[in-house]
Amino acid sequence: MTEDGARCPYCFELVDSYPDPGGGEHQQYVEDCAVCCRPLLITATYDEERGDYQLSVVGDL
Ligand SMILES: [Zn+2]
Repeated sequence: MTEDGARCPYCFELVDSYPDPGGGEHQQYVEDCAVCCRPLLITATYDEERGDYQLSVVGDL
């Protein structure tokens, strides 16, 4: 469990999303929150130091 994860702007649960590694270092896609099922606009940027994607989440308006 990481404390710096992105949170759903509606229910504030941590968003657990795994971008397609073949999709590039910067991706943006819409995914429903696993908890409240609202659409989230997820921006994923690959962080080379962490070797993982950094997520930022906003509500899909
Ligand atoms: Zn939610």
